[in-house]
Amino acid sequence: MTTLVWSYQDEYAAEREDILDAVDSVFSSGQLVLGPSVSEFEKEFAAYHGVEHCAGVDNGTNAVKLALEALGTGPGDEVVTVSNTAAPTVVAITGTGAVPRFVDIDPVTYLMDTAQLADAVNERTRCILPVHLYGQCVPMDPVVEVAREHGLHIVEDCAQAHGARQGGRLAGTTGDAAAFSFYPTKVLGAYGDGGATITGRADVDKNLRRLRYYGMQERYYVDALPGHNSRLDEVQAEILRRKLRRLDGYIAARRAVADRYARALGDTGLVLPRTAPGNDHVYYVYVVRHPARDTIIERLRDDHDVRLNVSYPWPVHTMAGFAHLESAKTSLPVTERLAGEIFSLPMYPSLTPERQDRVIESLRTVLATVDAA
Ligand SMILES: *Cc1c(COP(=O)(O)O)cnc(C)c1O
Repeated sequence: MTTLVWSYQDEYAAEREDILDAVDSVFSSGQLVLGPSVSEFEKEFAAYHGVEHCAGVDNGTNAVKLALEALGTGPGDEVVTVSNTAAPTVVAITGTGAVPRFVDIDPVTYLMDTAQLADAVNERTRCILPVHLYGQCVPMDPVVEVAREHGLHIVEDCAQAHGARQGGRLAGTTGDAAAFSFYPTKVLGAYGDGGATITGRADVDKNLRRLRYYGMQERYYVDALPGHNSRLDEVQAEILRRKLRRLDGYIAARRAVADRYARALGDTGLVLPRTAPGNDHVYYVYVVRHPARDTIIERLRDDHDVRLNVSYPWPVHTMAGFAHLESAKTSLPVTERLAGEIFSLPMYPSLTPERQDRVIESLRTVLATVDAA
């Protein structure tokens, strides 16, 4: 059976020599933690974005958490974000001691509905956390406007948006700080966990470096709390350095997959992803929508052996883990409706046209019966 779920195995087969060379170079270097690979990767990732500072951290969740903490977010504060996101966005907010305040999403792009931001702000609001979900940016002009007006910080969750642009500007370069994940499936993925923050602010970067290193600025001396051990691993950093050189190629391959879906499925009852004006989408996930979502997924699985994923089946505010939050007892009609209709088609750079065509053909067969009914 062909694999339709992403696995790093194909990519590893193609890049094995380079990846093993990266691992060997670190093992041979004599520096396994916060060595030259982390600092070189930080320089290169900052340069890719045209910003001054990058700090490598252990994963994307902690990248969000530390970025918030570096800007002074903590207990008593509120952070405005969306419920249609990967739960770690919100886990990171609660991890600082702050609480999330949710706004609904735009029914066309499924991204933060920025028209709702102003109403979500109150005297406890400290930060706006736009999530550049699925690979395209939240419209940042209205986010910046509300943040300016109310004196709020902006932390961009870029875990799904490496290399995405808006008006030519890279995701992560508008806010006070931005958080990236290098979880293996991400647009830029490590061979294990990894993350990073970028910022143009020296003060924020200094805080981030202390936060990831026990609260220490100098070895053995804790300057300030909170402190964590949230360092990016030297081996992952060296692998990421190699893969960063190929990032634009990975993105081009994802766009080619997206184009093929758009050409092959444009005449069906599926609502295909739409790119907001001015955005360059990097297609971390290819999210489609149909009212008969559950039937479609079931028939694809049972009759065609095609298994599809849903990003995400549960809005964060409806999850038991957040039920204790006053702000979770809210109604987000668009988010709640879409959670029952969205699903994701296989999307990764090494997806071959043959495998993709198998998905397309199966999907068209199932849709013909569903749409006719
Ligand atoms: C993956 C992801 C995270 C968390 O990243 P990890 O590296 O898995 O901790 C946070 N936010 C979003 C939107 C993500 O997709």
